[in-house]
Amino acid sequence: MTNKKPISLTGIQPSGTIHLGNYLGAIKPAILRQDTYSCIYFIADLHALTTVRDAKIIKTAMYDLVATWVTCGLDYEKHILFKQSDVPIVTELAWYLGCVTGLGFIEKAHAAKDAKEKNKEISFGTFAYPVLMAADILLYDADIVPVGKDQKQHVEMARDMAGSFNHAYKADIIKLPEPKIEEQTMIVPGLDGRKMSKSYGNIIPLFSSEKELRKKVLSIATDSTPLEDPKTMEGTLLGKIFQALATKEEYADLEKRLQKGGLGWGHAKEELAQIIHKQVGHLYEPYLELRKNEKKLDEILALGAKKANTIAQNVIDKVRVAVGTR
Ligand code: AMP
Repeated sequence: MTNKKPISLTGIQPSGTIHLGNYLGAIKPAILRQDTYSCIYFIADLHALTTVRDAKIIKTAMYDLVATWVTCGLDYEKHILFKQSDVPIVTELAWYLGCVTGLGFIEKAHAAKDAKEKNKEISFGTFAYPVLMAADILLYDADIVPVGKDQKQHVEMARDMAGSFNHAYKADIIKLPEPKIEEQTMIVPGLDGRKMSKSYGNIIPLFSSEKELRKKVLSIATDSTPLEDPKTMEGTLLGKIFQALATKEEYADLEKRLQKGGLGWGHAKEELAQIIHKQVGHLYEPYLELRKNEKKLDEILALGAKKANTIAQNVIDKVRVAVGTR
């Protein structure tokens, strides 16, 4: 009997400015898992190449993410943070998996299906994306892979590919991790009421000075009800954003005061800015400090790569013996 914690695997997509939606919907829940699981986090730079053709963007996003996650509490010494391309044998495993996977099966994946429906040309990388993703999921002996409902298909496809592999080589060589559906993950609305997203230009960045944050929050559109009139946040854009970012008590308290009258929307927005600042304001300076130190970020990634490669090597050794390349 060992008391080793189960392994949880989280993939992180390198993307543009990190916002409060990313923080509350993905980063914070993933950081909290460190208490219960032995966590492995990888930054999926190889996947990003299916859409990004600029080395500088890839590199900058990589450093941004390492600095972000570490500032937000990722303990890279106890757990593992690495970049996908630092474990090149993931592409080898993808090949082995690809050799036991039918074309029809891959065509069912979101990207390929979407492209076919729209009669769109896609790269081989985009088409083969689910196979590389399966290799990511299977190479680190993970027990669980936390995913949103919309990403469950990826883990199920990885399990199917692992099943095909084990069946083809008549042994339980690759471990099948379980998807852990994060039912309660919240959707943070953006400044225009749609889901907060870089592509809509409606974000509140996770890292901004108090002044910049206040400016963003004050830009939320409200109606022109006079200051002295009673108001309700219920059903308003400000209300939705407030609800996502404040506690229930903070929401109820402000709502009560607004309903009494004598409090303007401008005041409510000031309170929202303060609440956000209270939650994440302390991260801003440490983030800037760490982000500047690329040598330190390289060291963090090198440590992660070393640990991730050790685990991956064990798995690939068994796979190579099974297929006959070793
Ligand atoms: P993206 O960079 O947009 O792919 O987002 C990365 C992750 O952040 C997603 O997989 C979600 O888990 C989370 N996320 C992004 N936008 C939001 C949002 N508006 N509300 C909650 N979670 C979000």
